Amino acid sequence: MVQKKDKKNPDLSKMSQLLLSGATMLGDSCPDCAVPLFKKENDIFCPNCERKAVFIKDKEEIRKIEQKISLGEATNQLRDVLTGKITLLTNYLASVDTPEEINEIVDIIGNILDILQKIS
Ligand SMILES: [Zn+2]
Repeated sequence: MVQKKDKKNPDLSKMSQLLLSGATMLGDSCPDCAVPLFKKENDIFCPNCERKAVFIKDKEEIRKIEQKISLGEATNQLRDVLTGKITLLTNYLASVDTPEEINEIVDIIGNILDILQKIS
């Protein structure tokens, strides 16, 4: 555990050193000392507390939103494919004559309609 520095006097020379080394100052500030957070490469950290800052809540939310979007896209794609297959099966159904074949195709169409209902 790093000892906390004086809250009112952030180490300015350290901050300018960080800027010179290619770090960028962020709009967010440290929840502990209110000094602006810095970002270097993929690390976000507080130069005053000398520790990394991780936006767990934000990251979690972003992850959830991303998941939702990709699931939505997958669902749309599935809907399109299944709708296409129903058209195909309907045409095929018109061309078959035996009760077994008719039964089989009707079953498959029924399954597809079930899935479509679930994802709509
Ligand atoms: Zn801090």
